[in-house]
Amino acid sequence: MSNAIRYFIRPLRPEAHLFEVRCTVTEPDPAGQVFSLPAWIPGSYMIREFSRHLLDLRAESNGKTVKLDKLDKHTWKAAKVRQGQALTLHYQVYAWDLSVRAAHLDQTHGFFNGTSVFLAVAGQTDAPCLVEIAGPEGETCRHWKVATALPRAIGEKGAAKAYGFGLYRAENYDELIDHPVEMGQFTQAAFEAGGVRHDMVFTGRHDCDTQRLAADLSKICQWQIELFGAPPPMDYYLFLTQVVGDGYGGLEHRASTALLASRKDLPWPGMKGMPDGYKTYLGLCSHEYFHTWNVKRIKPAAFTPYDLAVENHTRLLWAFEGFTSYYDDLALVRSGVITPDDYLGLLGKTISNVLRGPGRKHQSVAESSFDAWTKYYRQDENSPNTIVSYYAKGALIALALDLQLRSETAGRCSLDDVMRLLWQRYGQTGTGVEEDGIFTAVEALAGADLGPRLARWLRKVVEGTDDLPLTRLLKPFGVDLALDAASTTPTIGIKLTSGDTRIATVYEHSPAQQAGLSAGDVLIAIDGLKLNGGGLDAMLERRQPGDHIQVHAFRRDELMCFDVELASPTADSVKLTRQSKAPASAMQLRKGWLGKQA
Ligand SMILES: [Zn+2]
Repeated sequence: MSNAIRYFIRPLRPEAHLFEVRCTVTEPDPAGQVFSLPAWIPGSYMIREFSRHLLDLRAESNGKTVKLDKLDKHTWKAAKVRQGQALTLHYQVYAWDLSVRAAHLDQTHGFFNGTSVFLAVAGQTDAPCLVEIAGPEGETCRHWKVATALPRAIGEKGAAKAYGFGLYRAENYDELIDHPVEMGQFTQAAFEAGGVRHDMVFTGRHDCDTQRLAADLSKICQWQIELFGAPPPMDYYLFLTQVVGDGYGGLEHRASTALLASRKDLPWPGMKGMPDGYKTYLGLCSHEYFHTWNVKRIKPAAFTPYDLAVENHTRLLWAFEGFTSYYDDLALVRSGVITPDDYLGLLGKTISNVLRGPGRKHQSVAESSFDAWTKYYRQDENSPNTIVSYYAKGALIALALDLQLRSETAGRCSLDDVMRLLWQRYGQTGTGVEEDGIFTAVEALAGADLGPRLARWLRKVVEGTDDLPLTRLLKPFGVDLALDAASTTPTIGIKLTSGDTRIATVYEHSPAQQAGLSAGDVLIAIDGLKLNGGGLDAMLERRQPGDHIQVHAFRRDELMCFDVELASPTADSVKLTRQSKAPASAMQLRKGWLGKQA
């Protein structure tokens, strides 16, 4: 690979959170080579400006320093070098972000996404890449290993052995930055699904029962592979989990996922049943795995290719994140890992979450998708009043579409067929999904009369703000939807910061808003009695809707007093139940939807 771009990375000073990186270009641009670092990472739609963390950048060729000009916040141009001579950039990257989106390094482990550490070589992003991942020096790191789905450079001198430091390869820059890398001492486990090896790696302190997890996760992966059709589109898959005391997050990649999970959510040896936390973790794994098809290969046209310097706008995240959010929990019940009642419990929570957001009346999921960069990913105290989640409402749109397809075709057609059609049309051909591509797929799939009608309905709900008629749509499946208040305590319509008396959000048109209370106010007393963190409900539970209370609060350093009229608690808590004596047609539809146990 003579024209390959060669990268080198190693933990330089773990205690200072610094990686050392080099990038060598064999045939630099004769007019002067331009380099840049991405401003965002695919899957997380926010400008993050990773170049903030680059330092000591310099260029050299044949042992001599080459002048570097900075063109903008993340682009540099090296001066011309003599023809036939390679150009090398040397730099360090500060890595102290324990999330799935950036890079992290200390004496316990290292983690990085290529978007945080590897400069792109302008004009040569299609060239193959060779990456030497080197180990840190020093005794504490002597037993470190490497986990990544980046292919090992087998056949090259210095090729890495399995889980080893050494040489890895990527076909191009796009692949290079789509395989996060973990290094340290970690727990390993493995299973097989669809004939493909799946590895799991856990960093951080934990007591995970990896056998139980492998047994459950293999069923979920197998079900998803069969949904789209075996074999799966990757020949190896890696779940990388960073375990912390309290955390949650995931980012999808073509053959792996980086996850952040709470220790309490992992299964433990001797665990009984299916605790809520474990369902949360399995749902996260299932979500990121579903992205292997939906968004990593079936992609919006706006992402083919990605432009990593600026925002890439699409109105389709409701399909890529929403449909994925629908299938993440659905895969748990369809694969038999959770019961239908467990599933209906999870679905009820999703519906409740959407109903609790007044923002759903102001923003459609198409708008929410387009504005993800400035709104969904940059939420503030007023976000619940102004935005709708394209994840949660997108999942409900997927549900509503699935239920209609099933009930109107007596179970012959479902959202599964839509996903398979999208896979054939877009995923397998490498074509990007046009902004109306989901509508046309639904139209084509469901036949002469139903298809166009459902496509029109879908466009309307995606571009509108109406609530979905789920009570009616669930009826033919023998599932009842009951809407109730979560408690009987009257409310003033605020959300407090966890464990504190500071107002995080004042909901629109609430009694608190009408009385003039605002986000950031610190509540001191109710009717002259001191309020403690978490104690508001206890102080209101003896009151009635319509009662007035006197609220003392600090706004900045000024003490203020508010007269607030209590309101009835809102009926926004959804409970779904299976009718035990549903007609045979309903039982049949329900089994098609939720599996044989339903
Ligand atoms: Zn997602």
